[in-house]
Amino acid sequence: MLLVSACLLGINCKYNGGNNYNSDIIELMTKYKLIPVCPEQLGGCATPRLPAEILDGEGQDVLEGMAKVIRKDGVDISGEFKKGAEEVLKIAQLLNVDLAILKARSPSCGAGNIYDGTFSGKLKKGNGVTAEILKSNGIKVITEEEIKTSEVFRAT
Ligand code: SF4
Repeated sequence: MLLVSACLLGINCKYNGGNNYNSDIIELMTKYKLIPVCPEQLGGCATPRLPAEILDGEGQDVLEGMAKVIRKDGVDISGEFKKGAEEVLKIAQLLNVDLAILKARSPSCGAGNIYDGTFSGKLKKGNGVTAEILKSNGIKVITEEEIKTSEVFRAT
């Protein structure tokens, strides 16, 4: 069983009401059970919604209260992002999932690089809030851009 960002499966949970459908991820359904999760919706964010980015830090800093997730209109929605991350962790632990494939660069789901907080498309090093909470609880996280090179899938 794999946890997957719901937008990658074509679920319209993205901030603009659309999705990030990815046929490589859909193909994994022939071998794995995929569990779709959208941490922003699980945290109580509406869809559609304004985009948000992490200001002055990354996911770990948000979880520790040292950085904020700010919506494009300046509203602090760190609480929703933390709640969503905790709910996703709960699902992962309930179902004994040890691998998650999450959407690259998102302030929730991104792993390795995320948008830099300026809403300009620029990136910075770091994990989104959900990617961070999963990793720090021993769950491996990769993005959809890594599935073709990941040793996990090369072995199957
Ligand atoms: Fe996709 Fe994650 Fe954003 Fe939800 S929070 S729309 S699953 S990238």
